[in-house]
Amino acid sequence: MLYQRSSKLFAEAEKVIPGGVNSPVRAFKSVGGTPIFVKEAKGAYLYDEDGNRLIDYINSWGPMILGHAYAPVVEAVIEKAKLGTSFGMPTEIETKIAELAVSMVPNIDKIRFVNSGTEACMSAIRLARGYTDREKIIKFKGCYHGHSDSFLISAGSGAVTFGSPNSPGVTAGTAKDTLLANYNDLANVESILKANEGEVAAIIVEPVAGNMGCVPPQKGFLEGLRALCNTYGALLIFDEVMTGFRLSKGGAQELFGVNADIVTFGKVIGGGLPVGAFAARKEIMDYLAPVGPVYQAGTLSGNPLAMAAGLTMLQEINKDAELFNRLEEKTAYLEKGMRKVLTDNNVPFTINRVGSMISVFFDEREVVDFETAGFGNNDTFKKFFHGLLAEGVYIAPSSYETWFITDALTYEDLDYTINAVNKIFS
Ligand SMILES: *Cc1c(COP(=O)(O)O)cnc(C)c1O
Repeated sequence: MLYQRSSKLFAEAEKVIPGGVNSPVRAFKSVGGTPIFVKEAKGAYLYDEDGNRLIDYINSWGPMILGHAYAPVVEAVIEKAKLGTSFGMPTEIETKIAELAVSMVPNIDKIRFVNSGTEACMSAIRLARGYTDREKIIKFKGCYHGHSDSFLISAGSGAVTFGSPNSPGVTAGTAKDTLLANYNDLANVESILKANEGEVAAIIVEPVAGNMGCVPPQKGFLEGLRALCNTYGALLIFDEVMTGFRLSKGGAQELFGVNADIVTFGKVIGGGLPVGAFAARKEIMDYLAPVGPVYQAGTLSGNPLAMAAGLTMLQEINKDAELFNRLEEKTAYLEKGMRKVLTDNNVPFTINRVGSMISVFFDEREVVDFETAGFGNNDTFKKFFHGLLAEGVYIAPSSYETWFITDALTYEDLDYTINAVNKIFS
């Protein structure tokens, strides 16, 4: 495959955009080479500026769960655009998507829409702090909750890939209110809560971690966090930006049967447009302005185009009773196929998977937290990434990322991918 035009476009971009990209994970820093510039995408495939076709396992980092340029979503956006693209006034469609989201997700009464997952998580901890009148939060090493200051401390994929686990620019004052815990380690969480008794407003967690590769919660971990929050008077925040409307209609809360106090959304909920949201029971949400004292706002929040894309996406997911079964079956098929060829070729590996989130770590040791996720950051991954790319299969350019399986993938695509993996290692 040739990437002449992509290379040229990247060189031009680098002159006017830092690193040539508007989000660092898009750069090929940890695997080498230059990023591929996309021209268009349809279904399971990306078409780049050089005319190459790639089978896409990133899917815009999650949103395109039904495939690229999904016709009902595209149509809804076009029709809405004709009526005006932003008003800064309330519109009916905001209530429609809110009603639908509240009906699909367990344990929430009200939801507020913002423009990104970052905003959703940033607002969720402000709300938790306001509601509890406490200042500290606990986050887990390797979990990512967007790029706002409080979370940029041991924040997983993006930051780790570039060797800056703690970003300069985050003040010591802010950092001291973020307490770090080890994922899947309840004893560690409890000791932190004990040492900071009466001070922790919330524990924020990715219920299935997806930003250090896919790391599932061990049995009892989420239930344990729920119990600890009850004991210590902290709120439990599930960051479902990745898992929401992906693991099930009701996300991780439904899949694991554990209730969070505040839930954040992004990615799928926007159908490919910039949307985030946070939601909770009425008494917590009514702590927000204009009803309550905690301020939060946005000129483009609830934007009609974004709401049209999101509403259509949620409607499609809601009416398709078999969607999550199909995604489970397709991803399980891919897992099984890759397990076989990697085993046959004597490649040490660990595959973690929950539903349509999957990742391959090139180390045989179990991956349960940030430290063990690091075992897979090695030369075999680079060989794997570039090998797949040469075969026209696009996965995230970092070992700390999850693959997002789309329903648009056919079994032919999956077989092709499994064969490509075999080719790389045989
Ligand atoms: C992607 C992601 C975010 C940030 O969302 P943006 O829309 O990129 O700001 C937050 N939390 C999790 C779990 C994510 O995967």
